[in-house]
Amino acid sequence: MAGKGHRVALVEKEKELFKKASIVNQARLHGGYHYPRSVATAIMSDDNKQRFTEEHKSFILFEFEKYYAVDKFGSLTDAAQFKRFCRFIGIKCEPIHGHPLFNYNRLEALYLTTEYTFDPVLIGEFYKEKIKKVSNIDIFYFHKIKEVEKGSGKWNVIVQDLEDKSLKSIECVGVINATYSGSNAVNRQFGVDDIQLMHEISEIAFITSPQVDNIGLTVMDGQFGSIMPYGKSGLLSLSSVAYTHHKVSYDNLPHFDCQLVNRECTPDFTSICNFCEAKPRSNYRKMIGQMKQYYSDKVALNYLTSYYTIKSKLKANFIDDGRPTEISQLHKNPDYYCIFAGKINSIYEIEKIV
Ligand SMILES: Cc1cc2nc3c(=O)[nH]c(=O)nc-3n(C[C@H](O)[C@H](O)[C@H](O)COP(=O)(O)OP(=O)(O)OC[C@H]3O[C@@H](n4cnc5c(N)ncnc54)[C@H](O)[C@@H]3O)c2cc1C
Repeated sequence: MAGKGHRVALVEKEKELFKKASIVNQARLHGGYHYPRSVATAIMSDDNKQRFTEEHKSFILFEFEKYYAVDKFGSLTDAAQFKRFCRFIGIKCEPIHGHPLFNYNRLEALYLTTEYTFDPVLIGEFYKEKIKKVSNIDIFYFHKIKEVEKGSGKWNVIVQDLEDKSLKSIECVGVINATYSGSNAVNRQFGVDDIQLMHEISEIAFITSPQVDNIGLTVMDGQFGSIMPYGKSGLLSLSSVAYTHHKVSYDNLPHFDCQLVNRECTPDFTSICNFCEAKPRSNYRKMIGQMKQYYSDKVALNYLTSYYTIKSKLKANFIDDGRPTEISQLHKNPDYYCIFAGKINSIYEIEKIV
């Protein structure tokens, strides 16, 4: 927006940007493989991948082997369907037989694919530096929206400094709500409808492995998991559909019982899970135990630490597991948009609407 000549006020509730989902994720530069039950998400990922890659080349790890595999037991998509799906959307999927690092007693099929990983921390630092240099962006860190008034063709947004409690008024012709798990809380402040969301407190574990430090494996499709390099950090991120998600809230606002312990974190103004005393105990042992079954005995997986955040999803994707980026204009003149980003590399969808 600033690049197009608009004057922008960026209101962020934390003291820093990039402390939530944009850092606590698996850093997969989605190429479509992950969504055999949502061709729309798969195609959208593949569409945006090229541009995202071009614009973030130095933050992307290209040099590693990326495998997708189908578990022999309980997969919602079998090997033949997975292969057909890859052929349908035109992405590489080469069967690999007898790889010494994997356990074929558990795998119906193993495929060599092309999928990269971006470095969320480097990307965060890049954008933090970039916006500092742009004169037409005013950043209000550690601020909350206190009140919203609608005038003719304008919003008057009163923001409060959470440190000294002082108030400021921002007059604007348009508002973009890009607060992910905070989407509905902000929508309600502007008197517009909720988007239908569900939320999960999620854990990404970080591990090392001398044998597979440059190899990624994602096991499809259901309660399985994934290990892959976390950008250029030298660490591997580990997630498991069964164990990454500790708590679930089917409300439009993220309600969790840990908010009864940490009273600062409320459904309409959630805190950073990573620093929270009330965050769930790590599931890393279960996650490692689950993923070890897919590797041969030679492979060691060593735990380092975990990151936590709230993952939010559109309720409509409960069945197909799609992660579209949904951008809705919920008010006109003055304008109000809600961007719900399902994936990092689908952010360019914004240009179709705003
Ligand atoms: C566990 C997990 C794994 C994932 N894996 C991948 C992956 O491999 N690849 C991929 O592409 N995507 C992945 N995603 C999805 C991706 O991380 C998100 O789509 C993306 O980070 C959303 O970006 P965002 O800027 O909208 O949200 P966020 O990064 O959460 O940023 C929202 C910002 O809004 C601020 N905020 C919230 N409420 C308010 C308020 N009321 N007032 C002011 N500020 C507020 C927050 O403090 C925060 O800074 C994953 C997500 C999770 C949680």
